Amino acid sequence: MNLFDLEPLFRSLDALPAAAGAAGGYPGFAERFREVLEVIACEQPDWAERIRVLEELDPATLERLRNRMLEPPGYEADDPLLGFALRQTLRRYHRHEGEKPLEEGPAEAVCPQCGAEADVAYLDANGFRFAVCRLCDTRWPVPRVRCLYCGEEQPKKLEYYPYEEGYRLYRCKTCGRTLPAVDLREAGRLDLPRLRAAAVEMQALYEAGAVEE
Ligand SMILES: [Zn+2]
Ligand SMILES: [Zn+2]
Repeated sequence: MNLFDLEPLFRSLDALPAAAGAAGGYPGFAERFREVLEVIACEQPDWAERIRVLEELDPATLERLRNRMLEPPGYEADDPLLGFALRQTLRRYHRHEGEKPLEEGPAEAVCPQCGAEADVAYLDANGFRFAVCRLCDTRWPVPRVRCLYCGEEQPKKLEYYPYEEGYRLYRCKTCGRTLPAVDLREAGRLDLPRLRAAAVEMQALYEAGAVEE
């Protein structure tokens, strides 16, 4: 596997038109969900069979799963593909593109705009670290030496695994959580679909023990 194999998938998903009405109960959610499934099936033909099962989910079930997902700490579906498709559908209602990062924010993983968790982070041209919200893409500055999930700040408890082009996986030894990130001094501009593709791969490599401590 290449670090960026899933990049076309994330790029196509972010190219789907935004949806309005998150505050109004997510109108058209089932249709938007089906469009997301179509993109996934098209980009990842190997998953088509599993996608077909998800196409059968009725709007009431989707609504229930969606609501559970939005409650903290964020429910994860038993089927990772279902969870992924639901989150990608939610992103269409919440994401906002092209905005500058916030000038300040909490020193933790919870998004100051929507309350979802950050899924990735990056170091900017000056080496400052920013967290990125998994749902709305809001970016906010966070301390570089700190676990955003449990607050651990002892450098010896915080490690990171380097991959190619400045991509890296932070890991906290205290709580065990990981945070995929990229150093823009090596990778150039921030490219979220590319970062999220690498994030899946880095996490998989880490879990498979492919990188030695
Ligand atoms: Zn957010
Ligand atoms: Zn931690």
